[in-house]
Amino acid sequence: MNAVVTKTTCPYCGVGCGVLAAVDDDGHVVVTGDPDHPANLGRICSKGAALGSTVDIDGRLLHPEVDGEQATWEAALSRVADGFMQIIKEHGRDAVAFYVSGQLLTEDYYVANKLMKGFIGSANIDTNSRLCMSSTVAAYKRAFGTDTMPCCYEDLERAKLVVLAGSNMAWCHPVLYQRLRQAKQNNPDLMVVVIDPRRTPGCEIADLHLPLRPGSDAILFNGLLTYIEQSDELNSFFVENFTQGSDAALAAARASAPSVAETAGLCGLEQKDVARFFSLFARTERVITAFSQGINQSTSGTDKVNGIINCHLLTGRIGRPGMGPLSLTGQSNAMGGREVGGLANQLAAHRDLEHAEHRDIVQRFWQSPVIADHAGLKAVELFDAIEAGTVKAVWIMCTNPVVSMPNAGKIKAALSKCELVVVSDCMRQTDTTVLADVLLPALPWGEKQGTVTNSERCISRQRAFLPAAGEAKADWWIIAQVAARMGFAEHFDYQGSADIFREHAALSGMRVDSEKEIYPRDFDISWFDDISDAQYEDMQPVQWPIIKEGAEKGTGTRRMFGSGRFYTATGKAQLIAVHPAPPAHAPDQTYPYILNTGRSRDQWHTMTRTGKAFLLTEHSPEPYAELHPQEASTLGLRDGDLIKITSRWGNVIVRLRLMDSQKPGNVFVPIHWNAQYASNAVVDQVVNPAVDLLSGQPEFKHTPVQISHYQPAWHGFLLSRRKLQLHDTVYWARATGDGYYRYELAGEQEPADWAAWARGLLCAADSDVNWVEYLDAAARQYRGVRLTDKRVESCIFIAPDVALPARHWLGSLFVKECLADDERQSLLSGRAPAGRIDDGRIVCACLSVGENTLINAISLQGLSSVEAVSRVTKAGSNCGSCIPEIQRLLK
Ligand code: SF4
Repeated sequence: MNAVVTKTTCPYCGVGCGVLAAVDDDGHVVVTGDPDHPANLGRICSKGAALGSTVDIDGRLLHPEVDGEQATWEAALSRVADGFMQIIKEHGRDAVAFYVSGQLLTEDYYVANKLMKGFIGSANIDTNSRLCMSSTVAAYKRAFGTDTMPCCYEDLERAKLVVLAGSNMAWCHPVLYQRLRQAKQNNPDLMVVVIDPRRTPGCEIADLHLPLRPGSDAILFNGLLTYIEQSDELNSFFVENFTQGSDAALAAARASAPSVAETAGLCGLEQKDVARFFSLFARTERVITAFSQGINQSTSGTDKVNGIINCHLLTGRIGRPGMGPLSLTGQSNAMGGREVGGLANQLAAHRDLEHAEHRDIVQRFWQSPVIADHAGLKAVELFDAIEAGTVKAVWIMCTNPVVSMPNAGKIKAALSKCELVVVSDCMRQTDTTVLADVLLPALPWGEKQGTVTNSERCISRQRAFLPAAGEAKADWWIIAQVAARMGFAEHFDYQGSADIFREHAALSGMRVDSEKEIYPRDFDISWFDDISDAQYEDMQPVQWPIIKEGAEKGTGTRRMFGSGRFYTATGKAQLIAVHPAPPAHAPDQTYPYILNTGRSRDQWHTMTRTGKAFLLTEHSPEPYAELHPQEASTLGLRDGDLIKITSRWGNVIVRLRLMDSQKPGNVFVPIHWNAQYASNAVVDQVVNPAVDLLSGQPEFKHTPVQISHYQPAWHGFLLSRRKLQLHDTVYWARATGDGYYRYELAGEQEPADWAAWARGLLCAADSDVNWVEYLDAAARQYRGVRLTDKRVESCIFIAPDVALPARHWLGSLFVKECLADDERQSLLSGRAPAGRIDDGRIVCACLSVGENTLINAISLQGLSSVEAVSRVTKAGSNCGSCIPEIQRLLK
């Protein structure tokens, strides 16, 4: 069969892998890694490999809607434009806002920012990137005078020491982790240190794990700064010539972390481990410190990032191969959003809102009637203002804040009473779209096109390979149409995304008088300001800045600051005096545990895409919490129990997983589940809304909570070919299987008649039903199966506790059109007939290898290494994300 292959970029994490999307004659999409893309060189992770399963139109928003009714584009666009203009007229331009996303393409982001800051004249546009990396933006600007990532991915391979600080790289940036793992295999002398309260899967390759006390990272890096000075390992030449502020930074470091012993005590670490880390860092020239949300998502995230940068500046380890502070961005286009000024405190093209010359140059370039002259509302402030009624209209693009914002219950309440809520999305029903007055169907990945920028400043093309479904339109088109109806048509008259990219590139090349001598500007892509549409279509990945002159023109820039020239007023890098501060809310007697939130291996954000791919849902089909076994034993909890996690802000009910990788006193819950997938699992309802005062980034990693056993009257599960509405159950969680939906269930009231209840749910009004059932009233067990001819339609299993049959074998029957006799006879037992293989829970999502298969291979064939397991079962041989789990099974 023929397949048309398109080079594009994965829409998920900040690694920004190039992928090849092959569409065959039947419209099936297969996605593989692009061997030519510098970010991944052909590699791909489980999420990227499953992209082909997420591009169907099931659940898509295909037409505009106004007040819950399908509408024409004209009616919907006019309602948005008129609504915004009316509110601006009555209450001023700061009474409206946009809340956008790191999933938008750069062109979409550029147009949204231009409309809000240059034509509406407010800076009330903020982005969900505020939630993941804004502390790094603030720290980079303090240290370097600009928001610029100094390193490139290749530095991970050229380093002698890689420090992973607050980064579960194995799960959150899996392809970079593959590169690091390979580098360590190639060079066993490469040392890896993991700094994280949890023993994350990345510890599989760690030479040293520092399970520090949550929130104590700034103390640790201050301790390191002190140590570097005391052991005379600082780079005096670099410090004197290229930095400023070292005296104050060192004084603050000495005051808070004067010695190895005191640092270890304050961080809750073994002194010998801290000494080893400090010694390794101080005496290794090529050091990369890769950091992510564990550092950023804190009320002192900006200081923590500066604490890391300080150590690199004091040793002069920046701007050269194999060294530097490497920020790992969460989303595919978080960096693109930063370039166009998508944060409420930025202007376009890395220009500053508070700088009159910058405002002037942007306004002249845009020929706009106004320009925002003060910072707008950052994400948490923005929803507070909606709640308070001072912001009366909000346009949410490509994001789901009712799930992803801290204190999420308040966000829902705020949107419920907001005068005008507009949502652009590709999905019809999310926790946020259900609150919209106007719904605008946007193109998803695969149908839209433009550019994205990954963590290493590399700009890549996202290309469309599917036709637009329904009436969906590009985000930039939707925004430009609204702008036109607000009276700004001539300034938004774009014919395609290439027009916007050229304008964005041209703006990046504009100079204010004070920087005429500086070449290049940090963010300068003016090389592209006159490219043709065909050149835009063929554009190859390239890292900014991209200079226009000399031998290297057009080739991009791998590393920044190699010359020792920074973008501060003096041209010197700034060390910052870091005064460590505790998290905003400390545990107490009522809320004694610390809730930490983050990503799980195979899901992405609020599951609108990854929730569709059965290979991705099998790894974790239910919302869960990880707790140390000791802690669980104290609380009288067992693995698999349902637990309620409660804070001052809200609660969730999730399944308990006992993990000795958790630090006692801490509980980890993934961020993904929402009201579309579970009854009560939006963990951000529980998360406190405190923010870093410099960056506005919330503290997702540290909320005091209490944990209790949630004990319903009954437990159960059902598998069904149809999606169901569950009203009578207190707890439910849905996962997509291969040909069926899986629901985990629990309820507080037992129905009077189980058979009637189950048939009502699974047989609806159908009369011609082959229903087989089993009831043991004394044991309070019920089982029922619905068959059509020899095919299973649905099944349900109920028990008074969690001791229920495994789900995998039953699920595997849904791909069969005709069950064998022994399979039919075994249905109500829930167990595979003798001699038939139950593969078990999927561990390797790429190659669909189950836990039972792995356990059998390990025990029957005496396998003792990951490599041997991989050779025999193939598990772990593609993306490698499951290797830590294979190691756990080997243990
Ligand atoms: Fe996509 Fe990130 Fe996986 Fe690469 S590592 S394939 S960008 S999710």
